[in-house]
Amino acid sequence: MPKQNTVKGPAVVKGIALHTGARATLRILPAPPDTGIVFRRIDMPGAPEVLANARNVVDVRRATTIASRTTGAFVVTVEHIMSSLHAACVDNAVIEMDGPEPPIADGSAKPYFEGILEAGIQEQDAEAHFWTAKAPIVFEEGSAMLALLPADDLRISFTTQFGYSDLDTQFFSCQVTTETFRKELEGARTFCPYKELEQVIAAGLAKGGSLDNAIILHDGALICKDGLRYPNELVRHKIMDMIGDLYLVGKRVHAHVMSVKSGHPTHCKLAALMLEQEAAAAAAK
Ligand SMILES: [Zn+2]
Repeated sequence: MPKQNTVKGPAVVKGIALHTGARATLRILPAPPDTGIVFRRIDMPGAPEVLANARNVVDVRRATTIASRTTGAFVVTVEHIMSSLHAACVDNAVIEMDGPEPPIADGSAKPYFEGILEAGIQEQDAEAHFWTAKAPIVFEEGSAMLALLPADDLRISFTTQFGYSDLDTQFFSCQVTTETFRKELEGARTFCPYKELEQVIAAGLAKGGSLDNAIILHDGALICKDGLRYPNELVRHKIMDMIGDLYLVGKRVHAHVMSVKSGHPTHCKLAALMLEQEAAAAAAK
């Protein structure tokens, strides 16, 4: 059986937070077996913590926000860090933050994922926990569809279609491992339709947003710095986001997830249904 892992030493990522535009420093620290992924807000009195778990999700608009009902700690946009930890098979870590939002970096998971690998992976003296499907989970919500099937590894097949141009209808499918994440997913940047930018800015969000960290969908074109990193960069980013949202079950996931046009709301709903299925199976024993 595979063992649980943590990081060998701190992994530090610094930069601008996407929404507040403030400077932010994030440190990924080692933690004992069965800690899970815990976010710690060192800028708040008493440095309160919140466990990365689907039960703690409080907002899913544009990004995934978690909050603890007992400590008051909250963190917005956890998905790129969670995705990197999931793909690197890090089961236990404390994520120390000096504000509510992590650095957006270049809009991809790369700085987090590479930071974790550079810090090193430390095997621990406890067996790893896996979430495995007892039965398929299928649901539709609006124009989104998600189907989760049992599998011996994590595989995601995803179709996007935003309707701004033919360029945003994309498909990609891959088995998720540390190696494939590095090769196929880590560099995929976040994106925003130009039409939504106005609303986002009017809402006082995306103060740190720029072409340094996002692709803009505008008038039949994809506008970005230094060209696309992958021809289907949008769908790869969506898969990367999903790997992070699924990790909110608190265990490495083994399943094949097929998605059509899903996003944070449906990903977090899936994670909640996965926890429900697991609890029902445990109760039936
Ligand atoms: Zn994202």
